[in-house]
Amino acid sequence: MTERHLPPPVHADIVRVDAHADDEAGEHHTSMAEIVELCKRRGIIFQSSELYGGLRGAWDYGPLGAAMKDNVKTAWKRAMLQLRDDIVSIDAAILMHPKVWEASGHVQGFTDPLVECRDCHQRFRADQLAANAKGEAYCENCGGKDFTEPRQFNLMFRTFVGPTEDSSSQVWLRPETAQAMFVDFAHVQLTSRQKVPFGIAQVGKSFRNEITPRNFIFRVREFEQMEMEYFVKPGTDEAWHEYWIAERWNWYTRLGIRPENLRIRPHADDELSHYAKATVDVEYRFPFAWSELEGIANRTDFDLTQHGRHAGRELTYYEQETDERYVPYVIEPAAGVDRSLLAFLVDAYTVEEAPTATGGTEKRTVLRLHHALAPVKVSVLPLSRNEKLVPTAQKVSDLLRPRWLIAYDDAGSIGKRYRRQDEVGTPFCVTVDFETVEDDDAVTVRDRDTMAQDRVSIDRLPEFLAERLDLP
Ligand code: ATP
Repeated sequence: MTERHLPPPVHADIVRVDAHADDEAGEHHTSMAEIVELCKRRGIIFQSSELYGGLRGAWDYGPLGAAMKDNVKTAWKRAMLQLRDDIVSIDAAILMHPKVWEASGHVQGFTDPLVECRDCHQRFRADQLAANAKGEAYCENCGGKDFTEPRQFNLMFRTFVGPTEDSSSQVWLRPETAQAMFVDFAHVQLTSRQKVPFGIAQVGKSFRNEITPRNFIFRVREFEQMEMEYFVKPGTDEAWHEYWIAERWNWYTRLGIRPENLRIRPHADDELSHYAKATVDVEYRFPFAWSELEGIANRTDFDLTQHGRHAGRELTYYEQETDERYVPYVIEPAAGVDRSLLAFLVDAYTVEEAPTATGGTEKRTVLRLHHALAPVKVSVLPLSRNEKLVPTAQKVSDLLRPRWLIAYDDAGSIGKRYRRQDEVGTPFCVTVDFETVEDDDAVTVRDRDTMAQDRVSIDRLPEFLAERLDLP
């Protein structure tokens, strides 16, 4: 094995627990109800088709939520693609040839055990039934304890291509983005001229007909994934698995997740997917329980071998230096956009006592989001709607708009406007006052976290903000 095949050392202060670690979240600084309420009130995320009573397991992201979601994906792509040269990306079709899902094992095995309450006929995942203090499973809808025998329910959504609805035109909505990276492996490797080890990444929608969507955007039927398949030489797979665990840990903590709310839990043998030699979950301490944010799997050569076999065309890699041909092993960090966004929201959500202008204190809700994730970066606030202030405030907005997402807000007292920006995580508020126009051509920049205020000349404002907002 040459050095080129092995991962560089990465330092990460990882917290590891064992496969059967307790998932009890314990005392939490916030609740799901508070997060859901904030998201709804500020139009960050709300029920899909609310106008018609909503559709279970589907959520819409409003202007702030959509901007934040873009920022999560951008942060992932920055780490995976921009800052390294060994990973390339694709944007594959959601509809794929049905044989893909036969080869991958999804038609056969992408199932969850389903049970039905015999009293109220509500359906549940058998492995996620609520239990009472005695450990007895009960129906969350009616309290009944009598369930049908579990039957395997396939989570893939089925649809048809073209005008006829028969088995020859049946296709599936993809339940993961990963398969395109395997099916496109040869094409991408050849055209990008990447050498093993290298990765193919993709961000996109996936669909799963979850039996019981729950916990807001944690478990939904339509969601987005950020997946990367890293192709390595067999024998180096375990070292690369460790490397990606460390890299992914560092990604979450660099973006502000508190390490005490993060842990790595390996899958027990009976939990491992059919394709995996080893998998760990990156788990976050959500208010409802420690739960999976991301899975990092050693998929071995399972997928490339399967597709090679089913398509009748070997998916191998020829290594020139050693004159060897082999089927690469794959390490897969598979993250969810919605779940990580939820973790970032929960972790950032803070309610604290803050001083008021009159010397008292009041409750302040602030989203202490990493600047890279904050939907709006700067809010421009004219002290009042006075005609002397407005043109200058608009000039300041125009100065900043090409570089960052700006919110212009001139409604209500300054204190109220600060609070409005704090609770959606805007890192800086820029206030234009009478001194600005009559005297110093400077503005007050207020920091979301420290609430410190700096007087900054308008000329220097872009540079002042760039030093604080832009990533190195
Ligand atoms: P779970 O055990 O929670 O059903 P999974 O192990 O099936 O998840 P993976 O197949 O490993 O999930 O998918 C990778 C990532 O995609 C998950 O870690 C999660 O972030 C996201 N994801 C999977 N299913 C859903 C879903 N129904 N809703 C939202 N995100 C999801």
